Amino acid sequence: MNAAQFDINNLTRENVKSLKPYSSARDEYVSDGSEMIFLDANENPYENGVNRYPDPQQRTLKKVLADQKEVTVDNVLLGNGSDEVLDLIFRAFCEPKLDNIITLPPTYGMYKVLANINNIAEREVLLTKTFEPNVPEILDKVDEQTKIIFLCSPNNPTGNSFSEENVIQIIESFKGLVVIDEAYIDFSNHPSWILKLEEYPNLIVTQTLSKAYGMAGIRLGLCYASKEIIEILNKIKPPYNVNELTQQKALHRVLDVTAITSEVQHILDERKKIIASLKEVSFIQEIYHTDANFVLVKVDDANKRYEQLLQKGIVVRNRNTQPLCENTLRFTVGTSIENEKLMKVLKQL
Ligand SMILES: *Cc1c(COP(=O)(O)O)cnc(C)c1O
Repeated sequence: MNAAQFDINNLTRENVKSLKPYSSARDEYVSDGSEMIFLDANENPYENGVNRYPDPQQRTLKKVLADQKEVTVDNVLLGNGSDEVLDLIFRAFCEPKLDNIITLPPTYGMYKVLANINNIAEREVLLTKTFEPNVPEILDKVDEQTKIIFLCSPNNPTGNSFSEENVIQIIESFKGLVVIDEAYIDFSNHPSWILKLEEYPNLIVTQTLSKAYGMAGIRLGLCYASKEIIEILNKIKPPYNVNELTQQKALHRVLDVTAITSEVQHILDERKKIIASLKEVSFIQEIYHTDANFVLVKVDDANKRYEQLLQKGIVVRNRNTQPLCENTLRFTVGTSIENEKLMKVLKQL
């Protein structure tokens, strides 16, 4: 969709359009830095680092992230993991029992779970044999009630990035929203779709601190979109959805670009070593191309190999039951010691 044809109001649920958001104490008074006495939020006044409510808009953290991605703060929404961000998108734009969304299995399981929780019909269009979106079939499945198409690129569990041409065709032909989940973008050579936000008003890009940034435990998900979309999501988010400890830890980490870059580079080096080594394992029949911090492989008998690895103390992900993923296992890239152990065990089985 181009800007002239697109009006986000046509996609927004009526109740969301008309609701007046909860206004918290810290929404109504924004500090200008001067020394004030805070008697507005019924907090315990004795300082312990977390006795005050956190900034509902996470301004300091958002500013750093917005600058790094070269967007404005108005293009960013933060959530309690991408899972919350994705849930907010459902709740803003999908009318329960009426609307539908499209997912492209094999892919991340949360889109379907969130559709079920929100009582939104989920339509599935399998990826092609090369794990690309099947564009004609996707567009064929779209109807007036289709609000969102979820693309995961690089895709979990397959590891590949979708071709730019296919993604553009979907964004340009679809009148609803296209969510591109870039949880693994930092491991890929492909540019982020954030660069295309100005061109495509129906595009939403989600990222997370859970993978490359090494902060799965603090729960921080990121959403980048037009300021109109972000404004709507802001209206419905819980006021204090990102807690103070998360904001502090995340800020400290995202400022340490050198550490993140170096860890990502180590993971990429390890990924390369693992792939070379996997080629020497007799029961591995295929190693799929990956742009992520994991490798999907096809083996002779995934259930058997999964159990054997467990017995050796190694937990991998068995993707055998996923469509197009029969007899596949997904290995996350670990430390070099962990990966060497994995390779040693695999070669001994
Ligand atoms: C791991 C992962 C996420 C991360 O979700 P968080 O809630 O931010 O931890 C999101 N999308 C995909 C495809 C993932 O694999």
